[in-house]
Amino acid sequence: MLRAEHIEKSYNGTQVLKDVSLNIKQGEKVVIIGPSGSGKSTLLRSISGLEKADAGSVSYKGVPIREKGAYDRTEIGMIFQSFDLFEHLTALENIMLAPVLVHKENKERAKEKAMELLEIVHLSERADYYPQELSGGQQQRIAIARALAMNPKLMFFDEPTSALDPEMTVEVLDIVVELVKGGMTVVIVTHEMEFARRVGDRVVFMDQGTIISDMPAERLTMSA
Ligand code: ADP
Ligand code: ADP
Repeated sequence: MLRAEHIEKSYNGTQVLKDVSLNIKQGEKVVIIGPSGSGKSTLLRSISGLEKADAGSVSYKGVPIREKGAYDRTEIGMIFQSFDLFEHLTALENIMLAPVLVHKENKERAKEKAMELLEIVHLSERADYYPQELSGGQQQRIAIARALAMNPKLMFFDEPTSALDPEMTVEVLDIVVELVKGGMTVVIVTHEMEFARRVGDRVVFMDQGTIISDMPAERLTMSA
């Protein structure tokens, strides 16, 4: 479904990704693990199309993502460390916004769906709260619901909990584990080993800009 081949990326003359290839099948849950600075985020940004690699190619369903119309942006959901919710919109409005603006969904229908998503992230009773009235963990769950509202086929998570304290980390990770059980293809950068074990069916280790190991998540359990 998503194929990255021989990706190279440098910043100011320092090579951050060195000949990285990665092939992700539909429905797979891939976790990327590795030391800080090993290039995990850069790889994620390169394969998601947020950033252009210096060399190599990335294709989605066989079409290079740099080609016009290859990647339907609405098929892709992204969750980052920071939640980036719209401060002047309530939780509910944040979730409804893209379906109404981008998919031209009818407002009533979008609201119904947003309420269902709020239930999934266990925040139904916070529908009318503004982001600053919510905890970091709650904001991140709203950000996840907002991404899901577009029915993404592919979701990218970049250290979704690194801005959260341990309790909130657990509440967000539990939601993610629940969510990804379905058919969605998921790529997650994390440093939480236990989470990697629970959520992934494949674990990719990066070090100094290369993939040093790529193995089924069960093996992680066995070797730990
Ligand atoms: P990781 O996600 O594994 O912590 P990153 O991909 O964020 O690693 O970063 C890898 C290296 O690339 C780091 O040394 C980082 O400082 C550098 N880097 C990442 N993004 C940029 C950027 N936009 N400009 C310059 N250097 C960057
Ligand atoms: P992560 O913790 O996910 O690896 P970083 O904190 O490394 O992310 O990077 C956050 C942002 O800062 C990214 O947009 C990245 O491109 C940028 N960045 C990271 N390292 C550098 C750097 N050395 N110089 C400039 N920008 C950087």
